[in-house]
Amino acid sequence: MSKKFRVGILGATGTVGQRFIELLEGHPQFEVTALAASDRSQGKPYSEACAWRLPCEMPARARALVVSAPQPPLACDLIFSSLPGEMAHETEDAFARAGYPVISNSSAFRMDEDVPLLIPEINHEHLALIETQRRTRGYERGYIVTNPNCSTIMIALALAPLQARFGVESCVATTMQALSGAGYPGVASLDVVDNLLPYIGGEEEKIESETLKILGRMTDGGVKRADMRVSAQCQRVNVSDGHFGALRVKLARAAGLEEFTDALASFSALPQELRLHSAPARPVIVRDEPDRPQPRLDRDAGRGMSVSVGRIRPDAVLDYRFIALSHNTVRGAAGAAILNAELLAAKGHLV
Ligand code: NAP
Repeated sequence: MSKKFRVGILGATGTVGQRFIELLEGHPQFEVTALAASDRSQGKPYSEACAWRLPCEMPARARALVVSAPQPPLACDLIFSSLPGEMAHETEDAFARAGYPVISNSSAFRMDEDVPLLIPEINHEHLALIETQRRTRGYERGYIVTNPNCSTIMIALALAPLQARFGVESCVATTMQALSGAGYPGVASLDVVDNLLPYIGGEEEKIESETLKILGRMTDGGVKRADMRVSAQCQRVNVSDGHFGALRVKLARAAGLEEFTDALASFSALPQELRLHSAPARPVIVRDEPDRPQPRLDRDAGRGMSVSVGRIRPDAVLDYRFIALSHNTVRGAAGAAILNAELLAAKGHLV
C-alpha cells in the first residue's frame, strides 16, 4: 500500500471542518494529522474543542489531536482550509509560501486570475494556473487551489453538460439554500422558523461571477470567461442540509427534450474515468418523478457528491427549466475539496 499524504485542516471545528474529518476517515490516500482553529480552541484536544454536530461518532484519530493555531509549520503535507473568508487570505498565502499545497473552500482567492477555481469534472485544464501562480507570487513548492461557492458548484455541474453539447447563452437561477451553508450556529432560529430570508450576503455575486470562470476556457493568457449571462437570486430556507436551485436556461442551439435530458444524465468526465475515490459514478442524476429532487430524500445521492436534477420542462420564456439539488457541505464544500486533492494527486501535483 502506498504512503498516505498527511493532511492538516484549518477551521477544523466548524461545519465544513467536521465534514472534512468525517469524509477523510478511512480515506485511502489521506490521513488527518493536524487540526487548527481559533484561539478559543487552540491547545485543547479536538474532542474538547469541537462541538461535534454530525450524526456519526467523532473519529478516534481526530479526537486525540490537539488543535493548533492556523499558521505554518503544521505536521502535514497539504492543507485543507475551511477558514472564514476574512482571515483566509493572509493565512492561506502564508501556508502556500511556506511550501504547502492549500486546497481552499473559502472565497478569498477564488476569483484571482492565477488561482484555479476547480471542479474536476469541468475544468481540470485550469490546473495549469499553478505554474503561473508560482511565477507571479514567488511560491516555490506551495500553491493555492480553490473550490467554488456551494451553490455555484451545483449550478456549474448542471450547466457544464449543456454548455458542452448545445452551448448555454444564459441562465437564471433561483436558489433555496440550507441553514448549514451559514456555518454554526448560523442563522438565529427565530429568524427562520415559519419564514425564509431573501438575502445571503455576497451569494448572488459569487454565483454570477464564479460560474463564468469555472466554465471558461484555459488559454495562454489565463482563463477566458464563458460567454454566457448568469442571473441569481438566493434565499435561505429552513432546511438543514442540501441547496436547491430552480434553473432556467437559454441554449445556443435548439435541443429536443430527449437530447437535453440525455446530455445531463449521460454526463461523465475525468474523475469518473480515473475512478477517483470521491468521484460519484454519476455526477448528475436525472430523476423523472414529478416531485423530486427534494433535499431530505436526494442530498446524499452519490454519497453526497452527485447533483440531482428533475422537473425538466420546456420554458415559455427561455428554452428549458429544471430543478437541481446538491449537498452543500459535501459536494459544495469538504467533498469538493477532497475530490480536488484526489485530482491533484492523480496529476502529480502532490508529492
Ligand atoms: P463555521 O462553522 O463558522 O466554522 C468556522 C471555523 O473557522 C471554525 O473551526 C472556527 O474555529 C474557525 N475560525 C473562526 N475564526 C477563526 C480565527 N480567527 N482563527 C482561526 N480559526 C478561526 O464556518 P463553515 O460553515 O465551516 O465555513 C468555513 C468556510 O467554508 C467559510 O469560508 C465558508 O464561506 C466556506 N464554505 C462553507 C460552506 C457551508 O456549506 N457551510 C460551503 C462552502 C464554503 P473555532 O471553533 O475555534 O471558533
